[in-house]
Amino acid sequence: MIPVTRPFSPPIEEYHELLQGIWQRSWFTNNGPLVNDLELKLKRYLGIKHLLYLGNGTIAIQIALKALKIDKEVITTPFSYVATTSSLVWEGCTPVYVDIHPESLNIDPTKIEVAITKNTQAILATHCFGNPCDVEAIQEIADKYGLKVIYDAAHCFGTKYKGESIFRWGDISTTSFHATKLFHTVEGGAVFTKNPELLRVMAYKRNFGHKGFEDFHGVGINGKNSEFHAAMGLVNLKYIGSILERRKKQSLFYDKYLGSQEFQKVQIQHGSEFNYAYYPLRFESEAVTKKVKQSLESAEIFPRRYFYPSLGTLNYVSPPCTPIADENSARILCLPLYHDLSEMEQKLICRKILRTINYNS
Ligand SMILES: *Cc1c(COP(=O)(O)O)cnc(C)c1O
Repeated sequence: MIPVTRPFSPPIEEYHELLQGIWQRSWFTNNGPLVNDLELKLKRYLGIKHLLYLGNGTIAIQIALKALKIDKEVITTPFSYVATTSSLVWEGCTPVYVDIHPESLNIDPTKIEVAITKNTQAILATHCFGNPCDVEAIQEIADKYGLKVIYDAAHCFGTKYKGESIFRWGDISTTSFHATKLFHTVEGGAVFTKNPELLRVMAYKRNFGHKGFEDFHGVGINGKNSEFHAAMGLVNLKYIGSILERRKKQSLFYDKYLGSQEFQKVQIQHGSEFNYAYYPLRFESEAVTKKVKQSLESAEIFPRRYFYPSLGTLNYVSPPCTPIADENSARILCLPLYHDLSEMEQKLICRKILRTINYNS
């Protein structure tokens, strides 16, 4: 069986070693030494001054919205994982969808201004598949209208823009360290900000609002993560170089094998260093996409329709007009991509795809 992704599993002895320390200290959670160490090492690796390690990438978006006091209209993308929209709705915000650009699959900045109303407070955009949004254009609009910017950078570990981590952009960037992501801590996430005051507020919010044992800064939630999760992160971080390198190699391998066909590849933002987090393929129609998926599944290969359906079709939002997102989400498949996927398996996948397409045409 070949799944779309499989978590990176480091050598178990290295994880055991850190577990021993956790046992000796009997300190399992609540801002323990491994959580602190992971935060420090992540800052160093990413070249980022402020971050908070959190329970997951969804709570990261929710804490960001709460910290920025966003509770009205938020301009967002219809082409992302459901958590981008659900965390808005969960926080009492109204998602206002702006269509994506067909080349980048990211929110189209030229369509943002017409969607702004007097109730618009923020833009929540996803760097889809690890490909940076047009962050400069988005920031310009935000500055012009006094809007906050939050990036859902769940796919972006290792992505750089103009030589620096993409997590530096926006008032707050969030990410996920879920087991399906390229760098993971089993469950986990983080927020990034340049603003020390925002960081302070989010640190309170992460821990029930506690300001000491008996005093509270304001409303908070349980957004913490544990020593066990941090331990996984610390071990995995040692392998991040080889994880990124391998993804790149595998992606180029797919490129080469599928190169004879026109797949309308996603255009990576100019000036960025891509992390090869996903391998999306765009087919000519939904019918072909389904046919390819079926034929792969019959061989026990399981690509995923990331991201289908388009978020504007969720039954708890008002349906927007986002034809480009709808149309693209219907014909994109993400191919299997994970650390120990072999070239032989990749060849098998490519052969199946090419055979199905060529029958079809
Ligand atoms: C994975 C993901 C999330 C959610 O992260 P969790 O850690 O699973 O809560 C949010 N947004 C996007 C775009 C994602 O891919």
